[in-house]
Amino acid sequence: MIVSRATAFIAGTSPNRRPRYPRRVGAPYRSLDKLNADLVECRSCPRLVHWREQVAREKRAAFRDEDYWGRPLPGFGDPEARLLVLGLAPAAHGGNRTGRMFTGDRSGDWLYRALHRAGFANQPTSKDRRDGLRLEGAYITAPVRCAPPANKPTAEERDNCALWLDAELSLLANIGAVICLGQFAYQQAVRAFGRRGHAAPKPRPRFGHAVEVPLGNGGPVLLLSYHPSQQNTFTGKLTEGMLDAVFARAREIGGSSVRGPGSPYPSESSRGPRPS
Ligand code: SF4
Repeated sequence: MIVSRATAFIAGTSPNRRPRYPRRVGAPYRSLDKLNADLVECRSCPRLVHWREQVAREKRAAFRDEDYWGRPLPGFGDPEARLLVLGLAPAAHGGNRTGRMFTGDRSGDWLYRALHRAGFANQPTSKDRRDGLRLEGAYITAPVRCAPPANKPTAEERDNCALWLDAELSLLANIGAVICLGQFAYQQAVRAFGRRGHAAPKPRPRFGHAVEVPLGNGGPVLLLSYHPSQQNTFTGKLTEGMLDAVFARAREIGGSSVRGPGSPYPSESSRGPRPS
């Protein structure tokens, strides 16, 4: 039986022991399914494990009849994607409840509507893991996979979780553009692709909406966007038009493998397997 280095690392890490973050590029996973099977068992960050499970037990009153996911979140979307969408971390009563990235909160409502308008999603809503949503040409993930208190992971938790993003990037071979939702996503994208040999320009461009940052050595273009948090969408700092413009640019960069808006959605049989 072949045991991947990442699997051995996770299996040998007790919840209360500081993980030995290996700071290496990628992991020897052969599929996103295998990676995700290990990821959802990860308990490397004691504070986040405690928080995600406490939230899942106590629940918000509006969701008291639901079974919360309460575990790390796998990425979601098309393994052949040319567009990667990078957020921050799951929301306590959003992704941590539903088990899918950006699902179950207002930020996700905005994001999936934009993905649908841009032709990356077969429907404009994401309600739960069984709602029939499919992405074509896009994959959504986050640098931190467990919901952090106040949406603020520590530096140690961020670094622990980079293992998973590195492993995921090693399997997403076609990424040509990365939409970074917020400054944290931008910083982590620069770090993650830097570990893969794709350095950011120097000086590194400051974060700003619609800023483009091409990475070196044939790396993807980072497309920076304000995060669709309620803080930004309620105040008008981010409008649907602004988000659409970023997705339109991603579609331009993505080339022909990414559908244009309004084009027919492929049948299920024409597409490959998907992670959970
Ligand atoms: Fe594991 Fe990442 Fe969750 Fe930490 S945040 S427990 S590294 S999945």
